[in-house]
Parts: sequence; structure tokens; C-alpha cells
Amino acid sequence: MDLSFTPEEEAFAAEVRAWLADNLERPPSFDSLADEIAWGRRWQRKLAEGRWVGLHWPAAYGGRGASPLQVAIFNTEYTRSRARQLVNRVGINLAGPTLLAHGTDEQKTRWLGPILTADEIWCQLFSEPGAGSDLAGLSTRAEPVDDGWLLTGQKVWTSYAQFARWGICLARTDTDAPKHRGISYLVVDMAAEGIDIRPLVQITGEAEFNEVFFDEVFVPTDHLVGGLNQGWAVANTTLAHERGTSFPFKEQVVHEVYLHELFAEAAAGGRLDIPEVSDGLAQAYVELAVLRLHNWRTLTRLAKGEEPGPESSVTKLAWTDMTQHLSDTALDVVGPASPLWGTWERQWLWSKAASIAGGTSEVQRTIIGERLLGLPRG
Ligand SMILES: Cc1cc2nc3c(=O)[nH]c(=O)nc-3n(C[C@H](O)[C@H](O)[C@H](O)COP(=O)(O)OP(=O)(O)OC[C@H]3O[C@@H](n4cnc5c(N)ncnc54)[C@H](O)[C@@H]3O)c2cc1C
Repeated sequence: MDLSFTPEEEAFAAEVRAWLADNLERPPSFDSLADEIAWGRRWQRKLAEGRWVGLHWPAAYGGRGASPLQVAIFNTEYTRSRARQLVNRVGINLAGPTLLAHGTDEQKTRWLGPILTADEIWCQLFSEPGAGSDLAGLSTRAEPVDDGWLLTGQKVWTSYAQFARWGICLARTDTDAPKHRGISYLVVDMAAEGIDIRPLVQITGEAEFNEVFFDEVFVPTDHLVGGLNQGWAVANTTLAHERGTSFPFKEQVVHEVYLHELFAEAAAGGRLDIPEVSDGLAQAYVELAVLRLHNWRTLTRLAKGEEPGPESSVTKLAWTDMTQHLSDTALDVVGPASPLWGTWERQWLWSKAASIAGGTSEVQRTIIGERLLGLPRG
């Protein structure tokens, strides 16, 4: 593994920094989630105009055909500049790569462009009240009709469904087949008749999640991604991208910035002698170093043209532990009287989701045990 940058890569990093220096916008404080989304759309459009969204996508679909290393460099520079994360994350990180891998030419031409500009926001309609970790146990049905299917069932925890134009949805198209073989991967028009979206309030007080109910929602034939009843294989592409590619790089840099700020805060406040503070900061430093090494290993795989595999579960787990421990330490560093308390309290509440979202920690450990370590199943 070669950890140094070539002159071309250094030049690319400088180009990113120069663009951000000229164009970076700081968000104002928002009165509502809707205002935040509207601002996020404008900011993402500006980035897309500079061709700084979906860098690794082929140039034919609005990307730059960037290498995994260039993407990592971009993510590092972007995050270090403290730019706001993109609003259409499901579109860019999950739906887009899945369409690129499994979509038809028509589907790519229709859907990929507006993902980059955030003209069309996407959501992920996978989890159900009875199917989260055991996703293949889902019961939303798609019944065949002329020219498509009628979708009936319920999804839950659907982030940003209330702002989404399209959703990537797993539905059962063969109720007699074994559970992994009777699922299809459909693109659902979130404005279609028969959809009811009900926001759910989280512990942060915000309502980014939703329950989504389908009552005979029509999905046309050409919205099937991959083959009929082949949805599980397509979903695995989505899930591997959710756990293992761009997200941990961004999070690594976010937390490097956090750690730097917390260390400075603790030093300025004379709190470095408090054992919880010094131990917590040291632990965060070590866990961040571990995450960085996992990220470099992922990058090496991607640079060789390999897909992210079950190793992405190790990275997900490393990130989860690191963000939760760092968030605990942050509260010890700042203390409730600090003006920074509100920001860190929110981050601490958010960190609780890390061991659930994108696959729980228990499930990641099972994947690591069975698929990487070869331990017996069960
Ligand atoms: C912030 C956030 C955003 C999300 N956004 C979306 C989204 O946009 N779209 C979407 O589809 N979903 C989304 N989800 C849902 C997420 O994918 C699920 O919460 C997750 O897959 C876990 O499923 P569950 O909540 O049904 O828990 P369950 O699967 O019911 O698990 C409950 C508990 O049992 C444990 N458990 C379950 N099975 C096993 C097993 N085999 N072995 C050991 N332990 C087990 C779990 O680890 C967990 O502790 C989001 C969740 C969060 C927290």
C-alpha cells in the first residue's frame, strides 16, 4: 500500500481547495427542515455545476470518471473545509451507483442527471416494521398488472421521504419462492397516487424519518432495476455502498476535525488533567487511526477495481464505535455550561443511530464472523 500522493493527486487536491475557497457557502440557521433542504438543493446544484458531485460516475452521466483515490481526496478537502454535507445523499451514494451497476441505458439517462443537481431527491424504501436486520423477510407486495405492478405495504425509517421525488424500493414479486429469490428492486414515483408519508420525530426533535404506506401504487414495468425476482442481488450493491465506500472517508475527516477542536477546547479550558477527558481523547485518537487504516484498505481494493465486499462491515463497525466514544468524550470536554453544549448534545444523540442505521452492530459482527472469519453459521 502506497500512502503518498503523486504530483497529479497533489494538483487535484489543490484544484479542489481553490474551488472551495472561491465558492464555499456557509449555511444560515434554519427555521425548518424544509428550509434546510431548500438551501441544500441550491448548494448541491452549485457543486454539480462545478462538476464536484458524483466524481466517480462516468463522464457520460455527469461525473468525472474519477479514481477512488481522487474521490477520497475530494472528500477529505471538502470535509476539512467544513462544507455542509450534500442533501441528496441517498441519490448520490446509493441509488446512483446501483443504477450505474444494474440499470438500463434508459434508466441511467433518465435518472442520473437530476440526482447530481438535487433537482430530484431520492429515498431508500427498504426497512419495514417487520423487516430491518432480516431485510429479506419484507412483506410489501408488488402484484403484476398490465404494464407494471401495484405496490401495497408499509416501509419505515425512510429518511427524507417527504422531500423525495423517487424511492428505491424492495418488494415481493413472488410469494412462493424462497424469501431471497422472490424480491424485485423497483423505482417508485413518490408523487404517485396511493402513497401516504407520515413523518416520525426522533430524539433530536427533528423529523427526518418517515413511515411510508403504499395502497395499490402503480409502478410501471420500466421502473424495474435488474431482473424480475433478482432484487436481492441488486439490493446488495446498494447495501455495500451504504456501508463501505464514500461514507467512512467523509466521517473520518469529520471526526479528525472534531478531535482537533475538542483537544483545543479541553486545553483552553484546563480540562486535559481530567481522566475522562484525557482517556477519552486518547481513545478517540486511536480509534480514528484504526478507521483511517480500514479506509486505506478499502481504497486499495477499489483502486484495484474490486467491489466493496464484506470487509465494509469491519469499517462500519470501526466507525460506529469511534463516533459513539468521541461523542461521549465531547460532552465531558465541553460541559453543560459551554455555549458548545447544544451542538455536542445533538451530535451525541445522533451518534446513537450509528449502531442501527445501515445495518446494526450485531449484524455486522455476524457478517464478519461468518463471511470473513469463516466461523460456523448460527
Ligand atoms: C438514522 C437512521 C436512518 C435510517 N434511514 C433509513 C432509510 O432511509 N431507509 C430504510 O429503508 N431504512 C432506514 N433506516 C432503518 C435501518 O436500516 C434499520 O433500523 C436497521 O436495518 C435495523 O432494523 P430494525 O430497526 O428493524 O431493527 P431490528 O432488525 O428489529 O433489530 C432489533 C435489535 O435486534 C438485533 N438483531 C436483529 N437480528 C439479529 C441477529 N440475527 N443477530 C443478532 N442480533 C440481531 C439488532 O442488532 C437490534 O439490536 C434508518 C435507521 C436509522 C437509525
